[in-house]
Amino acid sequence: MNRRTRDSDYEQCTFCEKLKNQVQNLIGGPPGIYICNECIELCNTILFEETHVKTGAPPAKDEPLVLPDKLPFPREIKKHLDTYVIGQEHAKKVISVAVYNHYKRLISGHRIKEHKNVTLEKSNILLIGPTGSGKTLLAKTLAEFLQVPFAITDATPLTEAGYVGEDVENIILRLVHSANFNIENTQKGIIYIDEIDKIARSDHNVSITRDVSGEGVQQALLKILEGTVANVPPQGGRKHPEQNYLQVDTSNILFIVGGTFTGMEDIIRKRVGKDVIGFGRDHGKPDGDVGPLDSVVDAEAAGEDDDILHLVDSEDLIDFGLIPEFVGRLAVIATLDPLSESDLVRVMLEPVNAIIKQFMAYFEMEECALEFRKDALREIAAQAHKKKTGVRALRSLLENLLLDVAYDLPTKGPGKRYIVTPECVRGEGPVKVLPIKKKKKSVPPRRETT
Ligand code: ADP
Repeated sequence: MNRRTRDSDYEQCTFCEKLKNQVQNLIGGPPGIYICNECIELCNTILFEETHVKTGAPPAKDEPLVLPDKLPFPREIKKHLDTYVIGQEHAKKVISVAVYNHYKRLISGHRIKEHKNVTLEKSNILLIGPTGSGKTLLAKTLAEFLQVPFAITDATPLTEAGYVGEDVENIILRLVHSANFNIENTQKGIIYIDEIDKIARSDHNVSITRDVSGEGVQQALLKILEGTVANVPPQGGRKHPEQNYLQVDTSNILFIVGGTFTGMEDIIRKRVGKDVIGFGRDHGKPDGDVGPLDSVVDAEAAGEDDDILHLVDSEDLIDFGLIPEFVGRLAVIATLDPLSESDLVRVMLEPVNAIIKQFMAYFEMEECALEFRKDALREIAAQAHKKKTGVRALRSLLENLLLDVAYDLPTKGPGKRYIVTPECVRGEGPVKVLPIKKKKKSVPPRRETT
């Protein structure tokens, strides 16, 4: 083993002693001294606590106040989402309107000028859709577009205080970090909580880390969702009495929660089916009565069984195991569809940072070209579709497919076109290699002079 290899293998953080491959970044100082990203983060928190929490001094207002003067219209928000998120038209529309209304409410101070007595309530958003359909991507793209602090978290480790696991306040701490400890900006951020279905009261979700019913966690989350002044421990972890807390008002934080809600279709089918039978029974109901008829129409609108998820309502969510008060805080529900094969082809090609564009860029850096036959893309999409993990399967399929080529790309040198055919996607042959055709030098037209 030569010295260079040994050195880089054993570079480690001088503070926590984690090795280079155990952390995201390792920054070098004087020879042999390193600090990792995690220790830097911890130092920032300690410094913040020393200067602002213990002394009570407000954080420096070096961050610009979030929210642009001119809030983008729903149509503009949707247009931006379109450049990143393929398909999911209805969900994108619902979210664009909900987010516009959320920030409009915030700007207006929760009141409409003409209706002084009307208080606008916060509408958090629930996204229901299969894994890899774009729930997280939607939330992230929104936050980036609006330039508001954003945090992603997972509901699975959350527990009611007193149980083993994570306190709900830690969710807010992530947003505080994202806002660079600017509490004012934190209070206008967006938090995405994934796997919200895992805290539903259900036989499958019984866990030793939380109360048997699952209600405690929902109650704890409910408080921050509806708006409270949360005491956030600046160093994370469990709360303890001697600690100083950051106080964050959550009443203007937009919560987007998402989950796959496996089994929800059966609950809806049961409800819709029940109502269809009810319709027969109540045939003689007077006109104008709201009731089973709506569900009959709904059932017809559902058409294909795949579409049944669109009929989800609060009753179904309660049946699934969410408590009514929690459901009451999720005023906007949007469902996402599983991506079809043709959606997957579009995902590979169309978004601003589409996977294929990224692969092509790597080839260009080696002065080569990467090309795909149209039916090769369809074949990749078909294989990914079979795996049922949405877009997640695409990247690994492409990486495996191009592994050998990428391995030799720098050695083989520039000037080559690498062509992916359906045969190589099916493993029936290698990626084709041809020389790049040199463009003929174009002779500029001569200007005729008289
Ligand atoms: P989910 O939260 O629904 O499980 P994600 O949003 O995390 O799925 O998506 C996983 C990956 O797939 C992300 O890298 C994302 O960029 C990509 N992806 C998922 N759905 C779409 C979509 N509709 N359009 C474009 N990319 C998508």
